[in-house]
Amino acid sequence: MFENLSDRLGGVFDRLTKQGALSEDDVTAAMREVRVALLEADVSLPVARSFVKSVTQKATGAAVTKSVTPGQQVVKIVHDELIKVLQGEDEPEALRIDNPPAPILMVGLQGSGKTTTTAKLAKRLKEREKKRVLMASLDTNRPAAMEQLAILGQQIGVDTLPIVPGETATQIAKRAKQQAALGGYDVFMLDTAGRLHIDQVLMDEVQAVRDIAQPRETLLVVDGLTGQDAVNVATEFDGKIGVSGVVLTRMDGDGRGGAALSMRAVTGKPIRFVGLGEKMDALEGFDAQRVAGRILG
Ligand code: GDP
Repeated sequence: MFENLSDRLGGVFDRLTKQGALSEDDVTAAMREVRVALLEADVSLPVARSFVKSVTQKATGAAVTKSVTPGQQVVKIVHDELIKVLQGEDEPEALRIDNPPAPILMVGLQGSGKTTTTAKLAKRLKEREKKRVLMASLDTNRPAAMEQLAILGQQIGVDTLPIVPGETATQIAKRAKQQAALGGYDVFMLDTAGRLHIDQVLMDEVQAVRDIAQPRETLLVVDGLTGQDAVNVATEFDGKIGVSGVVLTRMDGDGRGGAALSMRAVTGKPIRFVGLGEKMDALEGFDAQRVAGRILG
């Protein structure tokens, strides 16, 4: 995911660390290259600008340029700034899934990987947190999507709400809530319908479902390959529905990584998980340290 960015930054920092003594101009020139590399990775312009500004301020002081290993110190500053931009100032929190049955609303555009992610997360909650999970598909326009969730549920050994043809999304949400309470489930996950683009009908439906479910977590699933578009989708969903966290899918692909770097800074929402493939185990908790490590190679 970060190969290109990582190569570009690697080149800049190799030169810096080999150079020995560093002047402020050297640092400024290197940061200009970092800025270009970030923009080519589809990081949003304000985020790239503020990142470079912050690193430059910290790295051009005498404490760094006059130190014995100035290049390495600059790399360390970049590393710390990457973590800040990836996760914000706060430490990541656990998912709020106490008080059973805890509702998790899954939202996102069609094709983003929402249904796959719903099942991956259910499997993770079952295996790692020993939760009893019920999943329900609300995609009444696409019977195939409802079937898909049922099939994935069977594969991973997680219950799905039986499909009742003709029900509306809100009726399904009510039934899922009742069933989760009656059946003694810890968590119920609602896989809402997606559309190819954000439209009013979709948002009205998701809002109605949200009001019934009263979710503890509303996770937005976005395609990590789509860079700044992913961030724009997150901004829109957050404005209309209120999002508590983001899942970036297809991080195994050769996208440019900008979505991961801009998401928190632009939307203020934490990235919770990353999807790393089609398999049911290919979901990883988001770890800013690890991602910063990958970016810096
Ligand atoms: P939905 O329309 O948003 O529910 O999307 P789906 O869950 O049906 O996923 C669409 C396609 O993307 C499927 O072929 C998934 O297997 C694939 N997919 C989902 N997440 C990932 C991921 O993290 N990496 C890769 N490579 N493919 C993924």
